[in-house]
Amino acid sequence: MSTSQTRYGTPGTKSAEYDYLIVGAGFAGSVLAERLARGLGKRVLIIDRRPHIGGNAYDFHNDDGLLVHKYGPHIFHTNSEKVFQYLSHFTSWRPYEHRVLAQVDGMLVPMPINLTTLRMLYGGEFSEDEAVRFLAARAEQLPEIHTSEDVVVSTVGRELYEKFFRGYTRKQWGLDPSELDKSVTARVPARTSIDDRYFTDSIQCMPLHGYTRMFDSMLDHPNITVATGTAFKDIPASVKYDHLIYCGPIDEFFDYRYGKLPYRSLDFRHVTLDQSQFQPAAVVNYPGEDVPHTRITEYKYLTGQQHRKTSITYEIPSSEGDPYYPVPRPENFERFRKYQELGDASSSVTFVGRLATYRYYNMDQVVAQALTVYARIAERETKQQRP
Ligand code: FAD
Ligand code: UDP
Repeated sequence: MSTSQTRYGTPGTKSAEYDYLIVGAGFAGSVLAERLARGLGKRVLIIDRRPHIGGNAYDFHNDDGLLVHKYGPHIFHTNSEKVFQYLSHFTSWRPYEHRVLAQVDGMLVPMPINLTTLRMLYGGEFSEDEAVRFLAARAEQLPEIHTSEDVVVSTVGRELYEKFFRGYTRKQWGLDPSELDKSVTARVPARTSIDDRYFTDSIQCMPLHGYTRMFDSMLDHPNITVATGTAFKDIPASVKYDHLIYCGPIDEFFDYRYGKLPYRSLDFRHVTLDQSQFQPAAVVNYPGEDVPHTRITEYKYLTGQQHRKTSITYEIPSSEGDPYYPVPRPENFERFRKYQELGDASSSVTFVGRLATYRYYNMDQVVAQALTVYARIAERETKQQRP
């Protein structure tokens, strides 16, 4: 079926009935729609207020035929064989290991900081053991590690922290690393080997024909109706459903009763250039505060596309716009917990995904979360069916 059509009863006409209404057609919503329809034979209506499926992982071919990620680079990596096997039902894969360079001291050096980075910045032929001693001598001894500043200065010292992390994080989050939970910069730990891959997960690859094709395949089932360009608040009362799965921002669902949960947004500037290559790596990070963007992505590295032109995206962080990143700070988690209590008390609604559970999750973590929610639902159904 087409995923761009709205197919449900309109007010005043025949009403439409579903077992589940799913709000949000990103990973969280689409995995649950697929499982409920194929696994349990449920009738599912899945909606998204954007004009497309795929959530933030949506990709599309631009006017020049180059595959572009509308909401910035999405690289699939996981240690979960279960998540990988599940998604493999809907796509073949292209082997891909992500590598990133950072512009530091007028050079492009590998990021995360590794042996090659240290050799390029400090000259000389460091061995791995020397690199370990070099970083240990610079690492600050802290009694406790709480913040994103702590976690970096306690492993690589202040100079490297300032070169690679302080400016980037201030731009990305509009906050100093000392004001952000340690989990943020801990995503990019330094190493003393020559491994220059951005991720170390055992499984790293890209969907062969892109994410949107994979989502199309997930949602292609007679029990699934997809309505894009449809916000939850616009669902007519004639649409009946037994259960709601909500994958949007939880604070919005509860009309901001306890105030807004902060999210960081990004402005994506997509540019196509009349040249076959722009930069020497898929992503170049710009930690300097002299430019507004944090990174530039060149998609051909991710997609393997051969083309005489190339497509790149600048990411410029912003406090306004779509909610992309939950901001990990204790007071935000505290506010989220209050919303979560409201959510727990609403037995007919299940909250799933990055925005509904206010977690800085990668795609594989959201898939794992959705599969866990599905397993719970399936178990409940099985119990109910037993005499
Ligand atoms: P989303 O993808 O955000 O989907 C939620 C959907 O709900 C949205 O499409 C939204 O329009 C819809 N919605 C919300 N409210 C409503 C409403 N009221 N009515 C109708 N629809 C609604 N992860 C990785 O693993 N690797 C990466 O390289 C990576 N890179 C990223 C880069 C960027 C710039 C960003 C922002 C994220 C990145 N991620 C990456 C994380 C990844 O995007 C998320 O883990 C994943 O998209 C979360 O899926 P989700 O379904 O929870 O949310
Ligand atoms: N970070 C940084 N410098 C870099 C790369 C990352 O300071 O060159 C910090 C920054 O705070 C960022 C976080 O580490 O938000 C996590 O980086 P990651 O690349 O995982 O960010 P994402 O891809 O989720 O935007």
